[in-house]
Amino acid sequence: MKLTDRLAFITGGGRGIGRAIAFAFARDGARVCVAARSAEQVQQVADEIKMETGVEALGVICDVTETVSVQLALEQSQKQFNRAPDILVNNAGIAQSAPLVKTSDEMWNNIIATNLTGVFNCTRAALPAMLEAGWGRVINVASIAGKLGAQYVSAYTASKHGVIGLTRSAAMETALRGVTVNAICPGYVETDMAELAIHNISARTGKTEAEALDYLKAMSPQNRLTTPEEVAALALLLASEEGRGINGQAINIDGGTSQY
Ligand code: NDP
Repeated sequence: MKLTDRLAFITGGGRGIGRAIAFAFARDGARVCVAARSAEQVQQVADEIKMETGVEALGVICDVTETVSVQLALEQSQKQFNRAPDILVNNAGIAQSAPLVKTSDEMWNNIIATNLTGVFNCTRAALPAMLEAGWGRVINVASIAGKLGAQYVSAYTASKHGVIGLTRSAAMETALRGVTVNAICPGYVETDMAELAIHNISARTGKTEAEALDYLKAMSPQNRLTTPEEVAALALLLASEEGRGINGQAINIDGGTSQY
């Protein structure tokens, strides 16, 4: 067990990658607080974790775009566990696509507020307790879109490039204080978000959904999507004691896509 006695706060923990990370951490002994806007989903994940692993788990409502909501969620976590989290996983995110000139103010602002400002809001709120304790882990789920450009995803790409910049600077500030800050950069992962991409490709190109899936798979030299569990395994390494030397990195998990 790598994470016994740790408390992890995982945003976007109600489904997809965040859910897989919450389960992986709990199976490794950590207590977990899963946070997202959908109360039912975070409650269900917390209940399933308690049932399967026996560890203490809490679901809290949290909108990462709102500083007050983040503060309230952390206060609820503090009340339940009587301590601050020593692992923060900034995983909450949204994806929408449009040509740059058709990207509305609303789309741009929502994506930046959730994917980038949300990471800032949660990190600024959770980091002081880690620095005081002299131990902490911040794990940001970015994307290979944080390193590469692609058509029709300017807002998403800008937000994820921002997350990697934030990760690198934060890591320099925390390096001597026992806290690491890293980013994970997946290619397409089998979640609702990829389903939405498949649906949109199909609607815009006339491909069937099966053809759209094949198109996404073919972006990887492994000709497949990454699984949420593979992303969780990397998060587990970054959260562990053994991962302490990895700091300020943005690690790809994409089957080699970014080599093309
Ligand atoms: P999902 O859509 O399956 O899950 C996203 C999670 O984020 C949900 O729990 C959602 O809950 C939560 N969320 C969204 N907006 C907010 C908000 N304002 N406040 C709090 N929680 C929020 O997506 P994935 O699991 O696929 O994505 C997780 C992360 O991985 C994202 O940051 C995404 O950009 C990144 N990623 C995903 C890839 C993929 O192909 N799937 C590839 C590369 C990176 P709710 O709506 O209830 O708030």
